Amino acid sequence: MTYYIGAHVSAAGGVQNAVKNAEGIGANAFALFTKNNRRWEGPPLKKADIESYKRFLEVYKFNAKHVLPHASYLINPGHHETEALEKSRHALLDEFQRCEQLGIELINFHPGSHLNKMPVNDCLALIAESINIVLDHTKGVTAVIENTAGQGTNLGFDFEHIARIIEDVTDKSRVGVCIDTCHAFAAGYELRTEEGCDNTFAEFDKVVGFDYLRAMHLNDSKGAFDSRVDRHHSLGKGEIGETPFRYIMQDERFQDMPLILETIEPEIWKEEIAWLRSLEK
Ligand SMILES: [Zn+2]
Ligand SMILES: [Zn+2]
Repeated sequence: MTYYIGAHVSAAGGVQNAVKNAEGIGANAFALFTKNNRRWEGPPLKKADIESYKRFLEVYKFNAKHVLPHASYLINPGHHETEALEKSRHALLDEFQRCEQLGIELINFHPGSHLNKMPVNDCLALIAESINIVLDHTKGVTAVIENTAGQGTNLGFDFEHIARIIEDVTDKSRVGVCIDTCHAFAAGYELRTEEGCDNTFAEFDKVVGFDYLRAMHLNDSKGAFDSRVDRHHSLGKGEIGETPFRYIMQDERFQDMPLILETIEPEIWKEEIAWLRSLEK
């Protein structure tokens, strides 16, 4: 099996439970929050939980390469105010350090928002500076930038934004990208047809480069094409339909990386994963 599929599972009760929850839905990859994603501060990881997490990973045969934690939604690494920027950088560093403790190699986060307070390019440069600082203080963890739907003043909806951030990151070996299909579609990247998928991924390759692709979020969209609305749906039930998911499962460029569902009905994740597997090349 060369495709690694999972969902963003619950880590309630301890990070080790995420592994069990992933196992329960037939996943061989997963995403999780390593702390409460709606809070700035979280209690440090318990030593016993870290040990259980690592043991469960082994028992259930997950590879650390296919675990993709998501950082807190509160973090804005491109904030224009010094104090708020420091707070975000501190929180992002904490997220990376939790990954170090757990032996996790990737961490996914949203690039940030300019809040109508600074020019786009300045904000992108600030985001890159935040990534450089965090990478300088950690080892072995790759910063995975997620494309966004472009809601509000969120940056990262245009592949050019992501390319510009990467350009300013010093250690290119520890920066990568996660493409969220719902976000891409909502930001105006066509995915409803095979030709649309060809063009969108060719555009990504041209602007950013496929070598930087480290993960995918597989979501359908409740929001319309190019609506800039970030509302996920279950696979095949939204505005996108089944095409890109079939496309991805037939394309070797998406092998050996976490393919993560953030769809809205956890009770059918098991079926969604089984369906994706049935499409595998
Ligand atoms: Zn996200
Ligand atoms: Zn996502």
